[in-house]
Amino acid sequence: MFSRIAARSRAVRLNQVAKTQTRNLSLHEFRSAQILQNYGIDVPKGGAATTPQQAEDIAKKLGCEDMVIKAQALTGGRGKGHFDNGLKGGVKLISSPTEAKMYAEQMLNHKIFTKQTGPQGKPVTAVYVVEREFVRREAYVAILMDRATQKPIIVASSQGGMDIEGVAAENPDAIHTFPVDIHTGVTDTQAIEVAKALGFSSKATQEAADDIKKLYKVFTDKDATQIEINPLSETTDHRVVAMDAKLGFDDNASFRQEEVWSWRDLTQEDPEEIEAAKHGLNFIKLDGNIGCLVNGAGLAMATMDIIKLYGGEPANFLDCGGGATADAIKKAFELITSEPGVTAIFVNIFGGIVRCDNIAKGLIAVAQNMNLNIPIVARLQGTNLAEAQKLISDSGLKIFSFGDLDEAAQKVCQLSKVVEMAREIDVNVSFELPL
Ligand code: GDP
Ligand code: MN
Repeated sequence: MFSRIAARSRAVRLNQVAKTQTRNLSLHEFRSAQILQNYGIDVPKGGAATTPQQAEDIAKKLGCEDMVIKAQALTGGRGKGHFDNGLKGGVKLISSPTEAKMYAEQMLNHKIFTKQTGPQGKPVTAVYVVEREFVRREAYVAILMDRATQKPIIVASSQGGMDIEGVAAENPDAIHTFPVDIHTGVTDTQAIEVAKALGFSSKATQEAADDIKKLYKVFTDKDATQIEINPLSETTDHRVVAMDAKLGFDDNASFRQEEVWSWRDLTQEDPEEIEAAKHGLNFIKLDGNIGCLVNGAGLAMATMDIIKLYGGEPANFLDCGGGATADAIKKAFELITSEPGVTAIFVNIFGGIVRCDNIAKGLIAVAQNMNLNIPIVARLQGTNLAEAQKLISDSGLKIFSFGDLDEAAQKVCQLSKVVEMAREIDVNVSFELPL
């Protein structure tokens, strides 16, 4: 019973870990497969193409009848996905170079929609043509950082291939976790234990165990935050093959992983998050409706917490770091208000080196020039606070200014609800600036 509950809570936590680790780099499957192969892990033979002709040529070179063509886009669930032109399935079994060309035409430069992409989909920038493997069993294996134990953990399941979230929800006992001691790494004994959890035949156990050790080496050598192989398959001739790979890398280590980072595909990332980075802003979109502009990651977290405490939901995490200049505030407001669902803006800035009065001037300038029709709540604190508050009240703009965090957070949650309700019944509440 205990292990059942523990397994379930671990599965839930894993989900949360995966969801919150958005600040890392993901690589296309064909790049990840190349890394795995460099470490001696068996992957299907193949090549990536960016034109239909290349796809045909790769298929010819493979010289076999049974192949698979796979859309390359940074999302899972491609197999069950569909395209903007109606094509169903981002992973297709094919039997000739002509077919490779035909599917490449329908996949390349089209958008794929999967359970993970949301309604905006992901552009397909390459196709990966590989030899087909004949599979006896499909397992799942991942290496992640676990916040709770502060250790890397290996997650293994004999029920791979399908979506692992489904297995975690319906059959948590089928998922096994193995914390790794970073001083010893994955020991031989532990590697065998993991291999057994994969449910392969005894003929494949040793190779699977070797692969686990190799995967852990990739994890540490490459500063990965996540390695997920789904499926890791046992073929009919008892080889162990990594047939899909999703690798994520820690952006704090980008300086020493030049090759990995050179493989970044910006077309797969959120254009607004990229735009924000150009202006020195750290912008992450969330699901709620209160746009937050803060300075410092710690303050950003605290802001999100307090908004939730007062019943609101943050729409984003936007950290302007040390540079709360008028220009940064303007860009930030543009990003925040580009989301149609945002019903209020919360500015929570600590004026240290950048003094409060300067921030207030920036805020006023931006609010005057942008035709904002949602309320702004500003909680400024620090150097020259009194001057800042005077500037705001003299401006005649409807910026609700507070020195106290609790009051400010309550106000923004309350105002955002008012706007939300007004929108629902299609009433125009006037928060236009200036008054
Ligand atoms: P995903 O849907 O994005 O996770 O894409 P995958 O690369 O995992 O492919 C989806 C599914 O297609 C896999 O789970 C396999 O079941 C199947 N598949 C992919 N390649 C092969 C292959 O070479 N042989 C067989 N038998 N199945 C394959
Ligand atoms: Mn997969």
